Formats: sequence, structure tokens, C-alpha cells
Amino acid sequence: MATKKVVLFDLDNTLYEYEPVHQKALNEVYKILKKEIKISLKEFLKLYKISQAEIHRELAGTASSHNRVLYFQRLVEKSHNTIEPDVVLKLYNAYWNNFLKNMKLRKGVIQTLKKMKQLGIKIAIISDLTTKIQLRKMSKLGITPFIDVLVTSEEAGSEKPNNVMFLLILNKLNVLPQDAIMVGDNPIDDIEGGNSVGLDTVLLTNRKSEEFKFNQDYQKPNYTIKEIPEILNILQIK
Ligand SMILES: [Mg+2]
Repeated sequence: MATKKVVLFDLDNTLYEYEPVHQKALNEVYKILKKEIKISLKEFLKLYKISQAEIHRELAGTASSHNRVLYFQRLVEKSHNTIEPDVVLKLYNAYWNNFLKNMKLRKGVIQTLKKMKQLGIKIAIISDLTTKIQLRKMSKLGITPFIDVLVTSEEAGSEKPNNVMFLLILNKLNVLPQDAIMVGDNPIDDIEGGNSVGLDTVLLTNRKSEEFKFNQDYQKPNYTIKEIPEILNILQIK
């Protein structure tokens, strides 16, 4: 039970399921690359993984570490042994056009946001990525009428679980941590990050709570849910 003025949502894999959409988009990228050069799906996936891991390592803790254009640039530099701007852009655009086309909100998201909104609860998105693509996702998912505030790691210059993003979003909303609750799918980024500034936290997960080993208090979510509409029970909204 919790009375809150603000609900903070993670976006990726919280409001929609990430993995299937990502896999489809990668397959689309492969189809396009295959027209350019001879490469097997296995080789492509390996190159993608290596490129992504390099960018993650080099840019850890920044929004750019998730930027697909950098992954595809690195990939093309490996697959073509030179930079091919048109190929990089083609792969990048194919990835996001396909991704955005296939994204679907999780069950009950709109109804949940609508109910919160009717009761005057502010709704915010706090997300580790670049702003432009997150704006495109929000627009495509049709959630913009319900969202009051967005904070991205590009804008904050720092990623979850670092407390900078959480403090920025609370500042934008002009509320104290005890007035807000954080909902996300990532035990470290969303839950440890939220806990670190004194937010109540909700972990969205299909796993049973026994499967998690939350040894320390700072790791423990206040609540776990399997579906988004369960937040309404936590907030005691009928
Ligand atoms: Mg997430």
C-alpha cells in the first residue's frame, strides 16, 4: 500500500517487451547487410555482439554506449575493412524502422496510465538511451498523452543506477523521493538505483521472488509484479 504523487517508469522491457522486437530488427539488418556482402547469419550475429561489447566497454555509463549507430559503424568497419557511411545508415535505419513497427505495449498499460492520470498522479519515464529514439518510441507506443516528464541518460549525462537521473527527474517534477515510486524490469538499474535515492521500488518480473538473491537491503524492491496493472493495487487504486 502506498499513496504517491508520481510514478516513474523505465521504458525498455518495462512498458513493452524488448527481446522479440530486438531480434526481429536484427534479422532485418542482416537481410540488408547480406545484399551488400557475403556473410552468414552466424557471422553477422558474432560481429554484432563483438561490436556492441566494444562500444559498451569503451563508453560504459553513457547513453552512447547503447547507440545502435555506433554498433553498426563498428560492425561495418569490421565487415568491410573500411567505413561505409551509406551502409551504416542503411543498417541503422532498418533496425529502428523495424523495431518501432513491431513494438507493442504490455497488457493493460494504457488502462493503467489512464487510471493514474484520472487521479492526478504524474507519470514520468526514466530511461537509459538517447533522447531522440526514446521520443520516437513514446510517440509510436501512443503513450505521450499520459506522460508528463521524460529523463534520458543522454540528457542527464549519466546512467542508471547512478542517482543523477533519479535526482533530475524528481527535480523536474518538484517532488520528494517519498512522493514517488519507481517501476522497472532491471534489478540493478531500476531497483538499486531507485532505492539509492529513497524511492519505493517495484520490480516487473516473471521470475519467482525466491529466484532472486537480494542479500542486501539496497537490492530489495518494495514490491514485485508480473503485470503492469498490478501497480494499481500497490497504489490502492480501484
Ligand atoms: Mg528496462
